[in-house]
This record gives sequence, C-alpha cells and structure tokens, in this order.
Amino acid sequence: MTVLNASQPILAPQDTTFAALVQADYSLRLSQVPQPHLPKGGALIQMTACGLCGSDLDKLMNQKAATGSVLGHEVVGVIQQLDDAHKTPFSVGDRIVSSHHVPCGTCHYCINQSESMCRTFKTTNLAPGGFSEQFALTANHLKHTTFKVPRHISDDEATCIEPLACVLKAVRRGGEFKNGSVAVIGMGFIGMMASQIYQSKGYSVYGMDLDRERLTFAETQGFVQSAFHPLEDKEGLQQALAAQTQTGRLDQVDLVFLTVVTPKTLELALELVRDSGTLIIFSSALTPDTMIHPSVLYFREIRLIPSYSPNLQDLKAAADLIFNQSLQVGPLCTHHRPLEKAMEAVELYQGGQALKVIITPRSSS
Ligand SMILES: [Zn+2]
Ligand SMILES: [Zn+2]
Repeated sequence: MTVLNASQPILAPQDTTFAALVQADYSLRLSQVPQPHLPKGGALIQMTACGLCGSDLDKLMNQKAATGSVLGHEVVGVIQQLDDAHKTPFSVGDRIVSSHHVPCGTCHYCINQSESMCRTFKTTNLAPGGFSEQFALTANHLKHTTFKVPRHISDDEATCIEPLACVLKAVRRGGEFKNGSVAVIGMGFIGMMASQIYQSKGYSVYGMDLDRERLTFAETQGFVQSAFHPLEDKEGLQQALAAQTQTGRLDQVDLVFLTVVTPKTLELALELVRDSGTLIIFSSALTPDTMIHPSVLYFREIRLIPSYSPNLQDLKAAADLIFNQSLQVGPLCTHHRPLEKAMEAVELYQGGQALKVIITPRSSS
C-alpha cells in the first residue's frame, strides 16, 4: 500500500492516474495521483475491475488504513507496459489477474507452508493499490501471482480468484472427513464459495445466515443441501441434522466454517460441531469479547483452524477452478460501481445489500 502525498506539484495529465484515496475520515475519494513507475522486470496495468474485499472494509471501519493509501487487491487489468528486463510469458495487451502479496519462498515461514506469515508476503503490495486506474506489478508479482485470463472468463469471475484462493487454503487446512458434513455460518460471498467447494468434495453442506434472501439464493443456486436461519429455523436445522443419522453420520457436523466471528456465531458453531470436529475461523472477530474457553476445546477435542490469506499453491488452484468454470462465481458479483463511486460500493457492502461489489474504472474514462 503506497501512501501518496496529497500536496504534490501539478503533474502533466499523462503522468497521472485516478485512484480512490483513503481520506482522514476513512471514506474513499477519487483523486488524481501520480502514475506508478514501472518496476524493473515488472509491468504497468490498466485496471479493468477490482473486487471490494471484506478486508478493505475492515481497514476502513476499524480505522486501520493510512490516509492517502489506496485499497483494493482483487485485481484484473490489461498490461499497458512491460519493462524490457521482464522474463515472463506475458505481452503488452494481455488481460491478467493478479494479487497483492508475494512470499519470498525461502524463509522459515515459506519452507513450512506458512507463506502468509512470510515478512516479504506482508510487505509486498500493488502500487498504489487496486482501486486505481493504473497500478504496477513487480517482477515477482508477474512471476508468482499473475495469470493470463482466458477469453471466456469475465473480469468479474477473474476478480474472484484471490478470495477463492483464501477459501481453498482454509478448506485445505481444515482437513478431510469421511462421509462428512459441514455447516457454513455467514452466507456472504465467501460462504457461497466455501459451500460450493465442500459440496464438490461430496460433503453435505448446511448454510446459515440471518438474511433470508441469501439463504434462498444459496438453495436455489444449489450451493448448499439446505439453508437455515439460525434463530427462526432451529427445528428445521435439528431435523436435517437428525436425518443425517440415516446415512451413518452423527447429528452434528464435522466442520463449521465461520465467515462471521461473534460470540453468537461461536456459540452456534460449538453446538453444531461434533466432538473432535473442526472450526475454521475465516474472519477477525467483530467484537472484542469473542472467545472460547480452552477447556471446551480440550475436553471435546475441537480443532480451531484460523486461515488468513492464500499460499501460492492455492492461488494456482483457484485460477484453475475459475478458468475451468468449476465454480459459479459470476452470480456472486452482484454490484458494480465506478471508481468515483467507491464509497457507494463500501456502503452497499456494509449495508448487506451486495454479496460482492466490483469496482470498475471511472465511468467517464
Ligand atoms: Zn480479498
Ligand atoms: Zn518467506
């Protein structure tokens, strides 16, 4: 994330681009900013789409983003310029998808499959960020996190690769279960993808959300076996779980995938999960008082698996799944807003109206 100085000298239009900058009050505002420079062996990209991620929202809501920074990392664009020193199969004009962090591949974290904890991973980024009409990719981005987008794949679909990779890593870390069943708590964009992945592995998947429309959507799209409102459909949920016993399963699930972490969702997860089952923590806690007593985990042998950001192998697997159209992600990209309306996108996401908002270049550009 590059912090741009708001008081720069006036630049020639060809040296500038437009980006949605984080303001002092944590809103986003379209601003003219210096064009990112072309890194050695890297590329300059014309952004065509960038997904608004829950983590972008977190940085604004919880006041973590630096004033003048540019958020956005689920990027798709067209290569405008390639440095002469590049050693890649890419050409100018290629439509590519990339993501922001690149692990070093050699540190202790990296050699132990903890790439998202690699210090290089944490400090690498797009310059200035995805909510910018132009951004730069380094040679390492091009080498490790960039894929050419096939013609039959839309920009929307391609923006889903990075978040899907995060889901794939969480699923991988959660392990495999024989004759398994899974509950997904929070049927937003991530929950809808996680459900599809678990279904494709043959698990029975139950979706849970407080939003009826999302439950209906997940059921009609076939992303889940059934979907429940955790407060209003308690009986239905219990019946569905009891019916599992006819197929040799228990009346609880092997794994709960939490995309929303609050005291209430953790309580629900502990009710749903079987002894020696797994809870996947896919999100930071929404409230400071969110906790589980270690004795509960100990006596019931419940595994708590947090999962944050993807490894390179997950990015590659996500790109394969999306390029092969093995997953339905297009219908999840429900809203689009041009760069000048980035704040509207944030509000749509925050208000729960949008499953996913895709930021596009300025409407006038
Ligand atoms: Zn993201
Ligand atoms: Zn490393």
